[in-house]
Amino acid sequence: MAAAQKSFSTYKFADAGRDLAQKSQTGELHVIVGPMFAGKTTALLHRIKSAGNGGRNVAMVKSSKDNRYAIDSVVSHDGLKFPCWALTDLTSFERKVGVEAYQKIEVIGIDEAQFFDDLYDFCCKAADQDGKTIIVAGLDGDYLRRSFGSVLDVIPLADTVTKLTARCELCGKRAFFTLRKTEQTETELIAGADVYMPVCRQHYVNGEVVKEATKTVLGTSSKAVGAYCSSSGADVVAVV
Ligand SMILES: [Zn+2]
Repeated sequence: MAAAQKSFSTYKFADAGRDLAQKSQTGELHVIVGPMFAGKTTALLHRIKSAGNGGRNVAMVKSSKDNRYAIDSVVSHDGLKFPCWALTDLTSFERKVGVEAYQKIEVIGIDEAQFFDDLYDFCCKAADQDGKTIIVAGLDGDYLRRSFGSVLDVIPLADTVTKLTARCELCGKRAFFTLRKTEQTETELIAGADVYMPVCRQHYVNGEVVKEATKTVLGTSSKAVGAYCSSSGADVVAVV
């Protein structure tokens, strides 16, 4: 009986191996996370360009919500640029590019992935069933350090996860978090350095305290809070 079971399971493994080998390509998922200004888009563009230079068929997707630089290109803060599909959701990608073109694509870069609600389902299908290599870049946390969108949901699906850091705007140490300088409270507020800054743990905590203290002392004028939080690190630390 034991021998029969062993023989059965060996057969199943061999069968599965043959099935896998028959697929033209095996999928992968790589995730790049970090705060704003950490170079996530730059890292994504480097990987996509490198794959393209290596002869692989690549495509780039970003959310149509983010039109800060250009609607049809992914542009990093340091000026790197790559043409892309700006979409409201990832499920429509195959239909938008066309089924034949989709089949030929080997590597798909997804920028600002926190804006795609269907990220998990897309990555599952594209990597597991369609054999695509997916490279996802996005914010792991919002300005309150809560999980942002579905980015963290795809980590259990990933081959690799890279957390990049920025430089704290107040002290120059490694920055892990994004501090919102203004009073707005919506989670999705798409803006740049006028609203957000990367900060270390100490200045994230102090920054929140400063905002609360400023509210009490000066009322809720967003202008006053914004101006205050833009001041030097020494001032912020002194008040706290
Ligand atoms: Zn700092």
